[in-house]
Amino acid sequence: RFITFEGIDGSGKSTQARLLAEYLSAQGREVVLTREPGGSPGAEDIRKLVLEGDPDRWSAETELLLFTAARRDHLERLITPSVAAGKLVISDRFADSTRMYQGLGRAALRGLVDQLHELMIGREPDLTVLIDMDPEVALERALARAGEEERFEAFGGEMQRRMREGFLALAKEFSGRFVVIDGGRSVEEVAVDVQRAVSGRC
Ligand code: C5P
Repeated sequence: RFITFEGIDGSGKSTQARLLAEYLSAQGREVVLTREPGGSPGAEDIRKLVLEGDPDRWSAETELLLFTAARRDHLERLITPSVAAGKLVISDRFADSTRMYQGLGRAALRGLVDQLHELMIGREPDLTVLIDMDPEVALERALARAGEEERFEAFGGEMQRRMREGFLALAKEFSGRFVVIDGGRSVEEVAVDVQRAVSGRC
């Protein structure tokens, strides 16, 4: 089985992905916790190429190709073999992030995103947990973290609002595999909701 976590920066999805991995491991499940962009050695290299340094180094189209290449490598090297071996794979972000950030964010490339996805990825998660969150609160959380996410500052709060609406629209578009969880509560409360949503489905 393959579970993904999605949400805007600062939504707490990475924390929730880790907590779910710990919870399921404690129940004896074999869990692989991974992330995108990255998740395999090659994809982590591509992550650095895109997220570190000059944000204008790549055009929107080239950035989409790089993220798609990273996802293909992640899928080939880690996700597909792990699922085939009966493990439960939990990924912090996957293709829905590209539908948002490259498809709707920097440029409107959703048509191209979908074509590349069909050609090169062709796999959807069994379950996607969207941690939905007030963009103002999420932005403060995200900006409080230093480091490679600096490029995020340039996007500002308006971008966060668009991304939140975009993720909620995606949850409707792919309603069969999405669960939307209110991330604006304590870490523990959100974690319990996530466990409930996952139990019985994976
Ligand atoms: O989830 P994480 O914090 O690791 O994401 C790192 C950065 O990459 C974030 O600022 C996110 O907005 C960005 N990103 C992106 N396109 C993706 C995935 C993430 O621009 N497909």
